[in-house]
Amino acid sequence: MTNQLPIAVIGAGMSGIACARMLHQHNVPFRVIDRGRVVGGRMASRRIRESGTAFDGHITDIGASYFTVQDPDFATVVNLWIDTGVAREWTDAFHVATPAGISGIRTGPMRYSATNGLRSIIEHQAEILPTELIQPSTQVAAVSVQEDHVVVDGEPFSAVAVCVPDPQAKQFIDAALASTHEILNQIDWEAVIAVTAVFEPDTLPKFDGIFVNEHRVLTWIANDGHRRGNEDPVVVAHVHPELAAQYLTDPAGVIPQALDALLPILGLTEHPQWSSAMRWTFAKPTSARPELYSFDEGNRIGLAGDSWAGGPKVEAAWKSGHELGVHLAQWWN
Ligand SMILES: Cc1cc2nc3c(=O)[nH]c(=O)nc-3n(C[C@H](O)[C@H](O)[C@H](O)COP(=O)(O)OP(=O)(O)OC[C@H]3O[C@@H](n4cnc5c(N)ncnc54)[C@H](O)[C@@H]3O)c2cc1C
Repeated sequence: MTNQLPIAVIGAGMSGIACARMLHQHNVPFRVIDRGRVVGGRMASRRIRESGTAFDGHITDIGASYFTVQDPDFATVVNLWIDTGVAREWTDAFHVATPAGISGIRTGPMRYSATNGLRSIIEHQAEILPTELIQPSTQVAAVSVQEDHVVVDGEPFSAVAVCVPDPQAKQFIDAALASTHEILNQIDWEAVIAVTAVFEPDTLPKFDGIFVNEHRVLTWIANDGHRRGNEDPVVVAHVHPELAAQYLTDPAGVIPQALDALLPILGLTEHPQWSSAMRWTFAKPTSARPELYSFDEGNRIGLAGDSWAGGPKVEAAWKSGHELGVHLAQWWN
């Protein structure tokens, strides 16, 4: 019976969609389930609306800022995204700052962005998957194991690929599955609040991104106009995890502190015309396992995402989900 049932992929972020693509390519029946209305997960992009500024319509990256490429397999995939115009090289140089202001510029690996926001990359990845096999707006509440199958919210599947942050997986995986919970308890996760601010045109200094060091309020500032490839004066600032954790029930409440920290670093005195805040309760794991994924043949539960494959980053999420998909396809066949 078991191998006639589809595989459930929980999560339609980078790891879940990479996993589903492998299952699809190997003709393994599957269904992707996500609580969000759209695919993308933490590669989240939002269009500015009703801001009262000239920049309504600007697509802002309010989750991941960019991605880097090391793995040769990921490089092949990214080159295809670049060839099709989905992804673009952004920059290899970011400024560094302290609370007093910008202190220098540091060159590093190429950082990639997407013309239409990072979420468009996941949409592009999902294009080969039959739309009826992606089930949005469905929050999984219970995953348990029976003799030869896994039950997801009352529905039987042959196996499950759990492609969500560990703390979210803990909420729906049966507490009786002690070995799985042991894995999910290995790593702590931290919060981030992303504050988007729209300034007057031609007021921003020239920068792509700024790593903010030794600051209790901000860790990172992105010039979202440059990231998008235009000059829209839109900035996204990430609030320090310790401060973000205090504002999870009222993310907008941190905006005044974030702006008070942002303006002197950018050398500005005028407040932005518009601002908003996005909360990520489980933004990033504080460390990651070197293993690419886990699959327990005994309970048929696979785990993937950016707390695997050396994460925490987009590339790790892709690698982890992709390799779990390859493993599940072999297991199935
Ligand atoms: C603020 C921020 C900044 C970041 N900056 C960078 C960066 O600059 N560079 C970089 O490489 N990475 C960055 N990251 C990390 C990057 O976004 C992640 O590594 C990557 O997107 C993780 O993909 P994933 O598929 O593992 O998880 P996710 O993208 O989180 O996908 C999980 C999916 O599971 C769904 N889900 C959760 N619970 C349930 C449930 N109960 N039922 C159904 N669905 C559920 C969610 O809706 C989500 O779509 C950043 C992340 C954040 C939040």
